[in-house]
Amino acid sequence: MNASDPTAPTIALHGVVRRFAGTDDAVLDGVDLEIAAGSVVTLVGPSGSGKTTLLNLVAGLDRPDEGIVRVGDTEVSALDDDDAARWRRSTVSSIFQAKGLVAHLTARENVDLALRLTAGIRRDAVHAVVDEILAAVGLDEVAGHRPSQLSGGQQQRVAIARGLVVARGLVVADEPTAELDTDTGERMIELLVDRLRARGATALIATHDVAVVTAADRVVRLVDGRLAAETGAKDGDAR
Ligand code: ADP
Ligand code: MG
Repeated sequence: MNASDPTAPTIALHGVVRRFAGTDDAVLDGVDLEIAAGSVVTLVGPSGSGKTTLLNLVAGLDRPDEGIVRVGDTEVSALDDDDAARWRRSTVSSIFQAKGLVAHLTARENVDLALRLTAGIRRDAVHAVVDEILAAVGLDEVAGHRPSQLSGGQQQRVAIARGLVVARGLVVADEPTAELDTDTGERMIELLVDRLRARGATALIATHDVAVVTAADRVVRLVDGRLAAETGAKDGDAR
């Protein structure tokens, strides 16, 4: 469907430490993690346990104080800001907690923009692809509304549509169902996970949502700055 032909990367973290000024303890305190290409992995842990911090490192938006973050053949933790931005455009689709929608653009234009920033998309293909994904997330009737005219849950669905419209190999999602009611949340997870699997993307999804955890291949748990021993994804315990 898209001109980009993503290769799903592996993700590897070795001895990753991240501390912020003003806090005594490191938020991430020696994280080792390997994720197989094409797997859908959820990241769970209490609020403040470092989920967003870890996602930002994997997405190349932040760098560790110690340790290595590698995605496929790229040592993301060694890239400078410009190279990281270029790398993200070719490799990473993000669905952020803060959504990051452009305020003066409509829902359709926000999704459209993500696609146009990707090189090699045929102009006539853009409309069909954007309309399809907006309908899939149930926003076709409000596609002409700007973010301020949408509910928090609708904005979150625009962010999901934007994250899915460009088929990149790595998808990083930060609590993508946090503002959705249970029914809508379940439909969005099904859509998200179905499309990730169809595409064969590698996905890391931070969540508190039991339904997301149940749908994933694997669950990784952050406790006190480290990864806890893993339990099965089908245990259904998001905390
Ligand atoms: P989670 O996503 O699991 O709720 P976060 O990764 O957002 O956790 O935050 C983990 C901890 O790191 C929190 O105590 C938070 O206050 C702190 N933190 C995160 N980002 C920053 C930052 N840029 N500066 C200072 N402290 C931060
Ligand atoms: Mg967070």
